[in-house]
Amino acid sequence: MCLFCKIIKKEIPANIILEDDDFIAFHDINPKAPVHILAIPKKHVNSFNEVSSSTMSGMTNFIQKVTNEVKIQESGYRIITNIGSDGGQEVGHLHFHILGGAKLKWGHLSDADPKGHF
Ligand code: 5GP
Ligand code: ZN
Repeated sequence: MCLFCKIIKKEIPANIILEDDDFIAFHDINPKAPVHILAIPKKHVNSFNEVSSSTMSGMTNFIQKVTNEVKIQESGYRIITNIGSDGGQEVGHLHFHILGGAKLKWGHLSDADPKGHF
């Protein structure tokens, strides 16, 4: 069973913000911003590559509820989902990073020269 499935089953503790029948949101263990939350579907999906549009429909509402709950809707935030090796995905269970609580930088995302050949 994957790490996030164990969090869903409460076999590994997490600081949970919001949960319903289909989704759960908890604080990232290694935050990269003052607010860094992970929102995931309870049904195991490897990545965005495999998620259904109906799950994404529910995820949209759920993320909106989470950002309302932690009061970052007005100040703003960023949603990221890393996919696969080049995307930097480390946990193989679809998750959306919700980052906020401060003005976020938008810098170099790759060591490769963005104007060169990838
Ligand atoms: P990825 O690199 O796959 O997009 O993101 C995985 C995220 O999961 C990382 O930001 C990492 O800090 C977080 N993470 C890894 N293990 C745990 C854990 O056991 N608990 C929590 N709450 N977050 C975790
Ligand atoms: Zn899983």
